[in-house]
Amino acid sequence: MFKIIPQIILALFVFVANAQHPPVFDAMTTDSSFINLYDLNINLVKYSYKPNGVKFLVVHDNEDTGVKAGFDYIRWSGGELIDCQYGGVRDYNFSYMDDIYRIDPNAIYTERGINTRLKKDEFSSNEVEKALNSAGKQIIDFYNPKSTGYILTLHNNADGGFGIASYLPGYELASAADSVYLNPEMDGDDMLYVTDLKLFNSFKKANVNVMLQSKFVENDGSLSVYAMQNNIPYVNVEVQHGHLEENLRLIEIAIVALKEHGMIKKQ
Ligand SMILES: [Zn+2]
Repeated sequence: MFKIIPQIILALFVFVANAQHPPVFDAMTTDSSFINLYDLNINLVKYSYKPNGVKFLVVHDNEDTGVKAGFDYIRWSGGELIDCQYGGVRDYNFSYMDDIYRIDPNAIYTERGINTRLKKDEFSSNEVEKALNSAGKQIIDFYNPKSTGYILTLHNNADGGFGIASYLPGYELASAADSVYLNPEMDGDDMLYVTDLKLFNSFKKANVNVMLQSKFVENDGSLSVYAMQNNIPYVNVEVQHGHLEENLRLIEIAIVALKEHGMIKKQ
């Protein structure tokens, strides 16, 4: 009589796993890569439809407006999206040798970032830093910016608090920015974050909120710092949770600019 229970649990698991990020239409195909970070399983899922050189990356698993907007773009224009899935939360939480660790998945792309931003017990093992370094490398390899020619990420933020104004002179993140352009008619939470001056100028011309990362930005392990160190043009399209239409509009503006500067290689 208990024989059926494992099947039910498995069926529920599959249902929940699929329900979290459903492919939006049947013709979309998927390909996966897995990272085992001790007791945390990270599933990198690549969704594809008519690959055309446009490729999105979502590193925070609780930021689904970006995933939906990326799917909307791909549905009409084709492209690929890599979504990092690890339980629908923002941070990686795991334990190793009875110690508890926590880190922002956007802090694992440089050794220095991992070292300074890992939340851990005082005498925890450096083995964990090596494992995080290799997890970051696996995500970058799966995205493969060398073949793509750029990195295009999608992030979502909360209403108020952090936004484009955070980078203005005198505000808390001013030192991260070389230049800021602000369109006062836009919601300040909706913005582009770039590492390339040509892209910054294109987005300014398109009259959208945009900040250009400073060459002297703190090495916090984020993908934008990795991109700068490796001379890969980087664009983050970041909007407030739920701003789906604005997210899609900014994605389209981002892709037009990447194409204008020959940064999207045709596949
Ligand atoms: Zn994010």
